Amino acid sequence: MALPTIAAVEAGGTKFVISVTRENRLGKSISVPTSDPETTLASVIGAIKRELRGGSLDAVGIASFGPINVDTTSTSCGRIGATPKLGCSGINLREYFQSAFSCPVGIESDVNGAALAEATWDIEQPIDHLAYVTVGTGIGVGIVHSGSITNGTSHPEIDHIRVPRHSDDLSFTGVCPFHGDCVEGLASGPAIFERWQSTLSDHSQDHIAHDIEAFYLGQLAANIALHHRPEVIIFGGGVSQTVGLIPRIREECQSVLSAYLPNLDTPTGISSLIQAPRLGEESGIRGALMLGKTAIEATQRHCT
Ligand code: ZN
Repeated sequence: MALPTIAAVEAGGTKFVISVTRENRLGKSISVPTSDPETTLASVIGAIKRELRGGSLDAVGIASFGPINVDTTSTSCGRIGATPKLGCSGINLREYFQSAFSCPVGIESDVNGAALAEATWDIEQPIDHLAYVTVGTGIGVGIVHSGSITNGTSHPEIDHIRVPRHSDDLSFTGVCPFHGDCVEGLASGPAIFERWQSTLSDHSQDHIAHDIEAFYLGQLAANIALHHRPEVIIFGGGVSQTVGLIPRIREECQSVLSAYLPNLDTPTGISSLIQAPRLGEESGIRGALMLGKTAIEATQRHCT
């Protein structure tokens, strides 16, 4: 049986990344800038059709910015919730791609997609229980357990928890439009820019901006460790790639945990827990591909 042809779509606030995959190999990466929904989605559909060269598609997998309805039993599955992003609220991405290609469409949050890829892409070294944290224009957290994405009534929103404030950051009100100084409001890329009028990597590593960022992300990691007890917490996204940041997040996480979890109170233990992405910048698009495969499997189950 021929391997399926799947369009993997990573839907982001600044760009959509597309890859049409044949024979289980990612095709070339195509980038479409995110503008108004009609223009963006028409460009994405056009790019996929050009890659297909008249051929057909077996599935689409979408890893999307949120909030998004990911309940496959809901008639609103695939619908984007309230978001400040360019009039996207209320758009149903799943329905849009289903009607364009008449094939199964799997959709999840971008971080859940990335988490799925990081946990299971390397079948020789799967990670049974993994959390993926992205720190960029927002902060997001996805959880995968035994090869399955772990959601509640929707995808996790742990990035909006409140944590103690850094003693040198008490006057900053935070940028989350809902909560002000939740973790996303204090440690996302826009929060850093609002506080310093520059990015984190613009500051030398001995600048207090790095201490403050690691302080908040270390607390987020500790909360995830306590709540989910994952084997690995991946820190992805642009801010996480700042040189020297991940070792500081490990230190802060250990400090918060205060040896409560003995396996994490060693250099090896905490380094094993908090890691950079194994797939580099491809976690999201590979996750989208896996969501397309999952959509095909779900269709086959319903047919047997
Ligand atoms: Zn918030």
